[in-house]
Amino acid sequence: MKESKCEHCGFWTNGHLENCNYCGKRLNDRHLSEIEEREKIEFRGMPLLKIDPDTPFIRKGFLYVLRFIQLIFFSIISMVAAMASSTVH
Ligand SMILES: [Zn+2]
Repeated sequence: MKESKCEHCGFWTNGHLENCNYCGKRLNDRHLSEIEEREKIEFRGMPLLKIDPDTPFIRKGFLYVLRFIQLIFFSIISMVAAMASSTVH
């Protein structure tokens, strides 16, 4: 059995559970928020188009193409930025 230490009360509890056996608080809270933070940082500065599910089909297809171009554009920019920062140092 995998055991994990509760961050809230310090007791060792069943790591497969979502909540601590002793205090009932959520386990792996810190881990989850770390992942969320990382995702937020990754997608920050990338204002992708929001596609409304109610958008007509043809318009939606057009928006998807536009968003795809935008993604390529952003990846090129980040690549150039990475290259520029590596040459500066
Ligand atoms: Zn606990």
